[in-house]
Amino acid sequence: MKYEIKITKTQNPKAKPDPVSLGFGDVFTDHMFIMDYDEGEGWHDARIVPYAPICLDPAASVLHYAQEMFEGMKTYKSVDGLKLFRPDMNAKRTAQTNDRLCIPHVDEGFYVDAIRALIDVDRDWVPGREGTSLYIRPFIIATEPFLGVRPSGSYKFIIILSPVGPYYKEGLAPTRIFVEDEYTRAAPGGTGCAKVGGNYAASLKSQMKAHSLGFTQVLWLDGVERKYVEEIGTSNAFFVMGGEVWTAPLDGTILPGITRDSVITLLRDWGVLVREERFTIEEVFAAHDSGRLSEIFASGTAAVISPVGELRWKGRGITVGGGSIGELSQRLYDTITGIQSGRLPDTHGWTVDL
Ligand SMILES: *Cc1c(COP(=O)(O)O)cnc(C)c1O
Repeated sequence: MKYEIKITKTQNPKAKPDPVSLGFGDVFTDHMFIMDYDEGEGWHDARIVPYAPICLDPAASVLHYAQEMFEGMKTYKSVDGLKLFRPDMNAKRTAQTNDRLCIPHVDEGFYVDAIRALIDVDRDWVPGREGTSLYIRPFIIATEPFLGVRPSGSYKFIIILSPVGPYYKEGLAPTRIFVEDEYTRAAPGGTGCAKVGGNYAASLKSQMKAHSLGFTQVLWLDGVERKYVEEIGTSNAFFVMGGEVWTAPLDGTILPGITRDSVITLLRDWGVLVREERFTIEEVFAAHDSGRLSEIFASGTAAVISPVGELRWKGRGITVGGGSIGELSQRLYDTITGIQSGRLPDTHGWTVDL
């Protein structure tokens, strides 16, 4: 290990939550990882300490200009111990996001070592019940007290852990999706391909609108012409049309999802044609009208695969796959969760034992 991680254990361990009633992201473990960055010194003082509020100067630049990034991943209790799913991809994506936000680089090997060390300390917090996991949230914030606009001279890299329940309590329930034609998520040259809090803040208004209209999430169209399909909420989007699977290409406005990459790899393994090409919402509705649209699903770490049962665009609603989960969606869900939990062979070497 390149840096030493100093460990201070809590004197007051918290009671563990009931695994049956676990939700998402509202319970945190006993410890957290912190490392500081200062100009001239680099990253230093890597430590694992009791989970607690952090102290920030009110002028800290993250609070004003949102110089911040985050990641999301999970660890699973498998038949043969704890596993991480493709953590090297999260480390690589962190490096790309950091570069876009002028946040100093974190050594990718050390990034994974820090996650491993923290989980090791809070090992007992990983829930074992079917569908549960330990969600891992690494993030970096700019901490320099300075109101001028420029990259901060100091940062904190923090990792927190949260035991979470199954995303869908009643199984894979198809979602109702509202095609957003007023607000946009990303523009060419913007931060759509980076995992930054600012993207999420800017999406809340649209999410609230969709909820108030009775929809689960929004489907984002491109920010220039508002016709090309981009993402669904905070997930990547896949459309099964005429037996081929379509998804938006990674051209700068799409977040390069690790689940997305896994889905594409599995589909190609199975001999399914995957097209990473631009396509319009009009083409999706036309495919529905001609009976070629068989499935729509979203992919992401939280829900893995989330089938879409209904799509509404400019006042017109269509039902997808009879409103129930499609064959490919189900097979992808079963395969990815099977690999994550060790029930299925990991032929791509995606899982890492802890
Ligand atoms: C995190 C995220 C995804 C999904 O990425 P995974 O690595 O599969 O979890 C997709 N879109 C957006 C906007 C995201 O922030």
